[in-house]
This record gives sequence, structure tokens and C-alpha cells, in this order.
Amino acid sequence: MGIKNCPECGKLYVENPSGLCPECYAQEEVYEHQIGEYLRENGKASVEKIHEETGVKEKIILRMIKSGRLLVDGVSMISYPCDMCGVPIYEGRICAKCGSSFTKQVKEVWRDKDNYGSQREGLRMYSKDDLKK
Ligand SMILES: [Zn+2]
Ligand SMILES: [Zn+2]
Repeated sequence: MGIKNCPECGKLYVENPSGLCPECYAQEEVYEHQIGEYLRENGKASVEKIHEETGVKEKIILRMIKSGRLLVDGVSMISYPCDMCGVPIYEGRICAKCGSSFTKQVKEVWRDKDNYGSQREGLRMYSKDDLKK
């Protein structure tokens, strides 16, 4: 446990699992309740829409979504833009499309690493032979 600056209001507070000072945390619970009510009445909505309707800052809404709050009956109801292409998504950080191209990129990087490794292996063998001469 340490003392931290609250990311919301900047005040010092004793660190706790919510990551906010007690006042901001209490405020967030109020927001959470407001948003929950809105979702129950209106169904799925985007972060932008929720912000317009409830006045809660988008940053706060996103933080609540990412910490797994704001679920209605265990279902994610708020869409927010994909980190990569901006398409609305309901969970994770990127949409399924970007997710699959991302996995592909990662695989390509690994393949390059393999090539790099065997090239180095080749070089090492070459220099060893060189030394024997
Ligand atoms: Zn605070
Ligand atoms: Zn995307």
C-alpha cells in the first residue's frame, strides 16, 4: 500500500484496488449506476452516445468497460472504437478483423526471427571453419 495521485482529480490517496481516490470512486459508482439504468432502458449504445446521454466523460466510461464493469446481465452493452481501425467493438481492444491480421503479423515476425537465427548459425559455422585454416 502506498500513496498515489488520483488519476481523476489529482489528489493524493492511499492506494486501493479501484485505482481511484475514495471520492472519485464513489462518483464512479454513481456514474456506473446511471449508465446501467440507461442501458437497461435503451439497450446497446456507443461510448459517445452514453457520454451525450449521461454526461459521463468518455475516458471514464472506457475505463469502466475495460475493468469489466458496465455489464448488463454479464453482457457487454457499450461499443467503443477498435484501437486499430475504429470500428465499434464490444470487448477486447481490437476488432476480430484487426485481431486476425495482428496474429498474422506476429506470426510473420516469428518467421523472420527463425530466418535470422539460422543465418547467424550459418555465420558462426563459417567463422569456425575460417579459424581452422
Ligand atoms: Zn480523485
Ligand atoms: Zn479493427
